[in-house]
Amino acid sequence: MNAHSLRGFRDILPPESEVFAGAEAAAREVFRLYGYRELRIPTIEAKELFVKSTGDTTDIVEKEMYAFTDQGGREVAVRPEGTPGVVRAYIENNLSQSGRNAKYFYIGGMFRAERPQAGRYREFTQIGAEHIGNPSPFADAENILVLFSILDRLGLAGLSVELNSLGCGGCRKNYRETLLAYLKANLDALCEPCRNRIDRNPLRALDCKADGPALAEKAPKMALCAPCSAHFAKTQELIKAAGREFHVNPNMVRGLDYYTRTVFEVRTSALGSQDAVAGGGRYDDLVKSMGGPQAPAIGWAMGLDRLALLLKDKPRPSADAEAFVVAASEAAREPAFKLLTELRAAGISADSSNFELSLKSQMRSADKSGAAAALILGDDELKNSSCSVKFLKDKREQLTMPAAQLPAELKKLLN
Ligand code: AMP
Repeated sequence: MNAHSLRGFRDILPPESEVFAGAEAAAREVFRLYGYRELRIPTIEAKELFVKSTGDTTDIVEKEMYAFTDQGGREVAVRPEGTPGVVRAYIENNLSQSGRNAKYFYIGGMFRAERPQAGRYREFTQIGAEHIGNPSPFADAENILVLFSILDRLGLAGLSVELNSLGCGGCRKNYRETLLAYLKANLDALCEPCRNRIDRNPLRALDCKADGPALAEKAPKMALCAPCSAHFAKTQELIKAAGREFHVNPNMVRGLDYYTRTVFEVRTSALGSQDAVAGGGRYDDLVKSMGGPQAPAIGWAMGLDRLALLLKDKPRPSADAEAFVVAASEAAREPAFKLLTELRAAGISADSSNFELSLKSQMRSADKSGAAAALILGDDELKNSSCSVKFLKDKREQLTMPAAQLPAELKKLLN
């Protein structure tokens, strides 16, 4: 048996797992403030869901999806992103009829068979936020402000936020011909896959990782119709009024099929080529096209793995136990075990090594544990109903205290 994880899949060990948990906690708190509630959606869905929503000309669906036929002969896929599942859940559970705001967040693993590199994995964790059923620019602004607030809480500065509008179906229809003419005049600059799909989805070429940036720079820009233009202007105005900075980037085309109007991306200069930390946009037609009601929506997803890379050197609360209990004799083992329970019940994090090992070995573990104090129980302590306290992180002298006063006294000592 070769005990190796698969290429592109990884273990997230402490302390990185604690960075993940901290970021999730910060996001949950912000979601609470903004009225976004959690949705837990399946990891596996019908393959068709992603083909029809994310789009069959996108890299995610065309090349990167973990799709297979299950035991019942159904074509299924492991989710490459969260939005299609959220929209399916919205439709299937009649959430439009609930009378409440359909503002949801999700946290979970996404799977894409991309070429792995630093900051790019085949399984990665996303936090996403979707607001369905509100077409107003106030919803755009609020949804984007949630993202700003989470990044604030995490203490991440130096990120750039880029904003663009991809217009509605009408704007796109007009633009399609202009763009197609431009791309056909520049066929040589297109990579093979882009050349093959320009008739099906010309916009995708501008988002291509290989040739997109150079092409987008010179490509004719989309002219927005009056309502789309007003929507984009109002969205910008509201974000600015909230004191947030962003940069309008007319070359930014987010790669998925369902985007309409507002799109945005958060980038960092600290991660090399994998510079996108979060991205999202409006998808006004997706719910209807999947068989649901007319429900314009906006959402984003942020990659926790990349956030963790940005956060790894920031100070965070210690996850080490506060107290480490040591049994110095055989008779002390059960009382020591009981003490652990009492400490934890009093809200003090407590740990031990194997009570059946020697005192020396247990003390060595205590030193390595990162705990503030070792609580030692031996025959003398048992006889006197006391406990010895040895401070492990500072030079305070060892002391003995009546067992009855633990853990209240210990709490004071540790503060
Ligand atoms: P996307 O759905 O591609 O816009 O991705 C949204 C966010 O998820 C990105 O900004 C990244 O932070 C993160 N992300 C996407 N793909 C990966 C990946 N393969 N590995 C790690 N993070 C990813």
